[in-house]
Amino acid sequence: MYDLIIIGAGPIGLMLANLLSDSKLKILIVEKKEKPDQNSKAIGITPPSLNLLKKLNLVDVFIDNGVRVNSVIVHGTKKVLGTVTFNSIKSDYKFILSIPQVITEILLENNLGKFDNITLLREYEVNDINISNDGVEVGIKDYKNITSHFKAEFVCACDGGKSTIREVLKIPFKGAKYHDTFLMADFKDQTDFGDDAHLFFTQKGPVESFPLPAGKRRWIVDTPKYLKDPPLNFLENRVLDRAGVDLKDSVKLSQNPFGVQHYINTEYYHKRVIFCGDSAHIMSPIGGQGMNTGFADAEFAAAVIKKLILKTNKKNYFELYKKYRQKAAKTAIKRAWLSMRIGTMKGAVLSAIRNFMVIYLLKFFKKMVPMYFSMLTIPYGTFEKVKKKNRSLFE
Ligand SMILES: Cc1cc2nc3c(=O)[nH]c(=O)nc-3n(C[C@H](O)[C@H](O)[C@H](O)COP(=O)(O)OP(=O)(O)OC[C@H]3O[C@@H](n4cnc5c(N)ncnc54)[C@H](O)[C@@H]3O)c2cc1C
Repeated sequence: MYDLIIIGAGPIGLMLANLLSDSKLKILIVEKKEKPDQNSKAIGITPPSLNLLKKLNLVDVFIDNGVRVNSVIVHGTKKVLGTVTFNSIKSDYKFILSIPQVITEILLENNLGKFDNITLLREYEVNDINISNDGVEVGIKDYKNITSHFKAEFVCACDGGKSTIREVLKIPFKGAKYHDTFLMADFKDQTDFGDDAHLFFTQKGPVESFPLPAGKRRWIVDTPKYLKDPPLNFLENRVLDRAGVDLKDSVKLSQNPFGVQHYINTEYYHKRVIFCGDSAHIMSPIGGQGMNTGFADAEFAAAVIKKLILKTNKKNYFELYKKYRQKAAKTAIKRAWLSMRIGTMKGAVLSAIRNFMVIYLLKFFKKMVPMYFSMLTIPYGTFEKVKKKNRSLFE
């Protein structure tokens, strides 16, 4: 019998386990993959998430393994439109940390090794779940296809966008695919861009460029459709044409096409099961908020689970979790959509209007824009903010 079973050891499941490591709760994490996913996904860790890592004494090791992005330089077709600098944001961390998701997962997983109340089972897949009045029974299949049953007081589904648990419990996941598609590639960096991110808002379409640790850089362009096998040098040609940067002699390390979508669970919990991260919401990665929103879910879920297991209060903490975290995800989904729409405007007229607005915003809202992009203005976006409002419930 466990206090908690966490399904999925992606960044959110691992963060949740770390946040509960000091609770003495008996926790089992089940992950179907042998090792963390090597595919390029999230890179941006925002200041609220860095604060969480500070609580876990992990922020220094993350910063040592990442790149501090202090400025985002926004280019139009012919000139620089302005710069977003994070120097003035109200946070101890005045930057976005760029660090590949695989390193995030490895660092979080390594830290769990210190705690003997937490067990991580890799290459085991949850295939069934039954909820009763006194607990949840979870069917777990091993690599020999043998299913065993484990019981816990609560379960947290951190099993990603294609969540099995959401399907088994028939929780509606509402949303749609956007028509936009993109191609991203990581290169050895031969530019002189240093640690700055660069956005190119041109008449022909956008180019995004972010520094990565170990002298690498990520480039993203839009594509006319999902390009499973992109034509040779498709991304390089678009970058040269729109941003004037020649990548043909740079070493390409990886390349991935991706589509974008927005979905959200109508329910964030079902009886004794709570959803965190992409199993509860998916948003456009343009804007870099999906994993960070999931980290904030994990912080709230950790507080709720501690309260429920200690049974110190009869208040429905799951309902509070749904109220605040669903609102935060809806806000992040809208903002991610807006960033994507602004960036992908094309044609002489729309592009000129967009670029005029960008110049205006970056000049007259110099302090607000970086707060917005560092996710410091999501209403009740962190558990600390909710706690201040509901002090008696979480003391
Ligand atoms: C191209 C791209 C770029 C992105 N950039 C950013 C960014 O810069 N910043 C940001 O914040 N977000 C970004 N995101 C989003 C981010 O990658 C996701 O939000 C994040 O991976 C969600 O983490 P998760 O743990 O909820 O889900 P996942 O990462 O999907 O992890 C779920 C885990 O559960 C396991 N699992 C699933 N089903 C089972 C089962 N039945 N039994 C056992 N294990 C199971 C899976 O194997 C997986 O390891 C990006 C996404 C993409 C695609």
